[in-house]
Amino acid sequence: MKAIQFTAKGEARLADLAIGDLPAGHALIRVKASGLCHTDIDVLHARYGDGAFPLVPGHEYAGVVEAIAADVTGPGIGARVAVDPNLPCGACPSCRKGLTNLCRDLKAYGVSHNGGFAEYSLVRADQLHGIGAMPFPLAALAEPLACVVNGLESAGLHSGSPRPREALVIGAGPIGLLLALCLKAEGVRNVTVADINESRLAFAADLGLCGIVSGSVELAANRRSYDFVADATGIASVVEGMIDLVADGGTALFFGVCAPDARISVAPFEIFRRQLKLAGSHSLNRNIPDALAILEKDDGRIARLVSHRLTLDEVLPFFTKKPTDPATMKVQFVAD
Ligand SMILES: [Zn+2]
Ligand SMILES: [Zn+2]
Repeated sequence: MKAIQFTAKGEARLADLAIGDLPAGHALIRVKASGLCHTDIDVLHARYGDGAFPLVPGHEYAGVVEAIAADVTGPGIGARVAVDPNLPCGACPSCRKGLTNLCRDLKAYGVSHNGGFAEYSLVRADQLHGIGAMPFPLAALAEPLACVVNGLESAGLHSGSPRPREALVIGAGPIGLLLALCLKAEGVRNVTVADINESRLAFAADLGLCGIVSGSVELAANRRSYDFVADATGIASVVEGMIDLVADGGTALFFGVCAPDARISVAPFEIFRRQLKLAGSHSLNRNIPDALAILEKDDGRIARLVSHRLTLDEVLPFFTKKPTDPATMKVQFVAD
């Protein structure tokens, strides 16, 4: 089968690989859509995961069950499924608390195990979720959307909790816009997206979101006015500035991935006096079904976040070259 393979740190190629034997408890998935994420780039450069090469990347994918091991009771052959890529150990303190995303020995398809940038993928059957008739490119957004859902839960926005009145998401890339659209879907009336790129803000406006230019006088005038602010840039200086935008009693969500050695300066007095909540968020925690429920209700806006549907050959350059076109949102490998 054709696959994208990371052969060594910084080296990605198109490979012809054997599918391999079907182990007990596993299903063979014919991949129909697989999304590229910044984490894949970090995996390639051994900044995330164990840096164990060779590896087929891809942790955001959906497809059709092609074969199942003899002991698998479901899903059956022909089932349309999305993959939960996370493989927690189940035994460490975090796992026992139900925080599987914080597992001390977290493994994942596309990070430690071969993932979705291939024609086929061997996946444990209990990691699969039925997607009904949902289009595969939309279903492949379930994983990043599940990360968003985990972030909102971490920030105290459980379903049923009071909605923030004014929300701000900094960064109008695919994950920032997914977060903003998820806030909308969860009933937050005013969702604003900040970015330095005007064309990305125009796209956000087209999706029904308010846009504001990062670093502008307009944004500065809104200091301390957002009940909920999320960073989706991973730029430390932006994260530092986010605190000043949060209204008294509000919440800041650290959603973007900053460099591990980055530091910011925060005034503890301000956190105390203004009663701010700072929330972190890592990966997803068994919430693919929640994400699929949101995608089921998509009116087409979330689907528009997929800007590229490409073959494996066409996806390959996106692993090594940063796209310069601001219209590049979610890039996916899509098979017929
Ligand atoms: Zn990802
Ligand atoms: Zn664990």
